[in-house]
Amino acid sequence: MNLNKLIVIGSVNIDHILNVNEFPKPGETLKGSNYKISYGGKGANQAVAAGRLGANVQFIAAVGDDDLGKKFKQQLESDHIDTHTVAVVESKNTGVALILVNKQGENQIAIHEGANSAVTPEYVGQFEDDIIKANAVLMQLETPLQTIEHVAKLAKQNNTKVILNPAPAQSLSDDLLKHIDIITPNETEAEYLTGIKIVTEQDAQKASAFLHNKGINTVIITLGSKGAWVSYCGKGEIVSGFHVKAVDTIGAGDTFNGMLVTALLEGKVLNQAVRYAHAAAALSVTKAGAQTSVPTRNEVEDFIK
Ligand code: ADP
Repeated sequence: MNLNKLIVIGSVNIDHILNVNEFPKPGETLKGSNYKISYGGKGANQAVAAGRLGANVQFIAAVGDDDLGKKFKQQLESDHIDTHTVAVVESKNTGVALILVNKQGENQIAIHEGANSAVTPEYVGQFEDDIIKANAVLMQLETPLQTIEHVAKLAKQNNTKVILNPAPAQSLSDDLLKHIDIITPNETEAEYLTGIKIVTEQDAQKASAFLHNKGINTVIITLGSKGAWVSYCGKGEIVSGFHVKAVDTIGAGDTFNGMLVTALLEGKVLNQAVRYAHAAAALSVTKAGAQTSVPTRNEVEDFIK
């Protein structure tokens, strides 16, 4: 068994980003500027973050049989990710996000799941052996929920650690929650899962107690620039983040999750792993983009000294 093996199961999206002065009204056509295509999807972002930051990553995902999807797969390989379980699905497009950003920095996003819908329990079932032998599996909520439920159960029964980043926010069954070892919502997602609006430390404590009661030992609620509420079996505290000049917070949570899991697999204790995750995420917000902003491990080590 490889002691450092991480399986990431999740989405791949091609982001098409366009800046506009104002969002177009229904029926209106407007000129945009700075058109960019970038690689995204929470699954791919977290796989890239973990891979670049030192984990031995196998990615279970699907792209379409279009050029962008195939190039994306090659790009993942150049980040040292094992992509033999990234399917190229005929007659489907790679997942797409169409993103308009206005002058205020607000965005409007429409997505099409495309090949991400092919990450079914049957597809992932082919790799049960890999999941059982891995040390940890990291998932998000942009691929079919039945798959996440299936994998969480299988992994938990076989002592593979289950880490769930419950993003984007959606409600989850008690049957899924009881198979999770570590959950990492942001404030919005924590409120969605627990019904508790996170304003004070007491709110974070209550929200984590709610999730502990569902059977999850470790609850980490990320709090943006304030850091994170970290609670293990009911004992919680704020672990502060790092002060940086934020340029673009897209993908901060993904970098946080990638570094967190990597550090835990290396044997770091929980709060130290969270510090590493804060450092990597803080460095990522100083640069634009999602995958392009993930720092190298050396950069994180220099920053954290
Ligand atoms: P998400 O990106 O999923 O919405 P958060 O906004 O809570 O999640 O951010 C995740 C993590 O990224 C934080 O816990 C922190 O480590 C880091 N982070 C986010 N924003 C900043 C910031 N402005 N300055 C420093 N670190 C940040």
